[in-house]
Amino acid sequence: MKRPAVFLDRDGTINEEMGYLNHPDRFVVLDRAIEAIKIINETGFLAIVITNQAGIARGYFKPEILDQVHEKFYRLLKEKDAYIDKLYYCPHHPEGKVKEFAIECNCRKPKPGMVNKALQDFEIDMEHSVMIGDRYKDIVFAKNLGLKSILVLTGYGKGEWEYDRDTWKVMPDYTASDLFDAVTWIKENIKVK
Ligand SMILES: [Mg+2]
Ligand SMILES: [Zn+2]
Repeated sequence: MKRPAVFLDRDGTINEEMGYLNHPDRFVVLDRAIEAIKIINETGFLAIVITNQAGIARGYFKPEILDQVHEKFYRLLKEKDAYIDKLYYCPHHPEGKVKEFAIECNCRKPKPGMVNKALQDFEIDMEHSVMIGDRYKDIVFAKNLGLKSILVLTGYGKGEWEYDRDTWKVMPDYTASDLFDAVTWIKENIKVK
């Protein structure tokens, strides 16, 4: 049976926006973020992280460091009985320095590649699925895929929302103070039998 998904951006949405996260110590989860993911788990949505990690293409950190960061993330989730169904990342950037990743790919948000991959791995009810992120490009990404979207005001969200939204062509379905607020909105507004 198909299940709806909550697609989650990572930096600025789940963890503090730190620029390039080149050490696991710089991975700091935001207040109530793990609790929010636990609610996603309990509500029956898939929890799928979709994150651009151009720092790999740019040579700022190696894929092994990213793996260590994610191991830390999974450990923090497990401590609170929460989990992510899957995490997808895009290591590419067309202007990168590391040759194998310096390509014009189809997975760097707002391109749809990572969700298309998720659609191969899971049976997803896209009609009831939602994207949550802290950047306008997450909202555009959602729109391109026909997903509902929520902008969180953590990370870059507050600045983009306050100073840039006059120029936006698409708007989020909801603007949330943080991930927990976003998930609460989903729970109350998206009814899945
Ligand atoms: Mg982000
Ligand atoms: Zn990519």
